[in-house]
Amino acid sequence: MKKHGHYCKICGEHKANEKFSGKGHVAHICKSCTAMPLEERNQAMTLTRILNLPWYLSKEQCAWLKKRCHDDRPIIKEAAQQAYECRFPFEERNRQKKQYHVDHLSLMVNDDVYDEYGDEISLNAIFRVSRKDSVISMTEDGQEHAVYIPSDKMTKLLKWMVHHLEIFCWQEDYALGKDDWNDDDEWDDAEDESEIIDTPVCWQLDITYRNGVSQQVVSYTSLPDRAEELVSKLMGYLFPMEDEEENPME
Ligand SMILES: [Zn+2]
Repeated sequence: MKKHGHYCKICGEHKANEKFSGKGHVAHICKSCTAMPLEERNQAMTLTRILNLPWYLSKEQCAWLKKRCHDDRPIIKEAAQQAYECRFPFEERNRQKKQYHVDHLSLMVNDDVYDEYGDEISLNAIFRVSRKDSVISMTEDGQEHAVYIPSDKMTKLLKWMVHHLEIFCWQEDYALGKDDWNDDDEWDDAEDESEIIDTPVCWQLDITYRNGVSQQVVSYTSLPDRAEELVSKLMGYLFPMEDEEENPME
């Protein structure tokens, strides 16, 4: 297919030939973009280039984009970081892991979980973890059970939440609002809308980091694997197995 018109590398649009001057044709800059102040024009060109990058980047494109992630112009910087993050999500997560240090966490669970023997337990409880107090607690039926954790173990536990569970991404990974239900195929045939609205919160995570950032994840679907892993880890601290010899094989 032959494309009519001509591509402008500043605005990124295909425009009719008469929108270009003779010189503009060669330079791939349309008349209206030629009229822009140079600074503005350069910014628009860089932005267009970022937005038009292919999904799989060549080495050169990747190096160029990385540089733009540190650009002085905020609009360029933001667009470049977004373009980079969606192509290399894991790299971005690993970078973020260094910034997140959990200060306080509360996890409400209203769901069935499995114990270490695979038995189902019906849980309706709130777990709390506090770095400052070095305490893990669980409140169920108004009763609180709390344990003190040595600070080195607490530090390890909180690091594990960030590095292994990637807890700071749960919002992105798991948060499913009530509105999202409507997009789910499962609910397409639901005759009664109230069924959707009455869905109780299955689990909720509230977390505060040392840098002041706080997150909330509210979910109407059952605990995902990583959240279940967290619950069983906390249960392990709260209710350690008794009468077990340490390292019996040694
Ligand atoms: Zn243009």
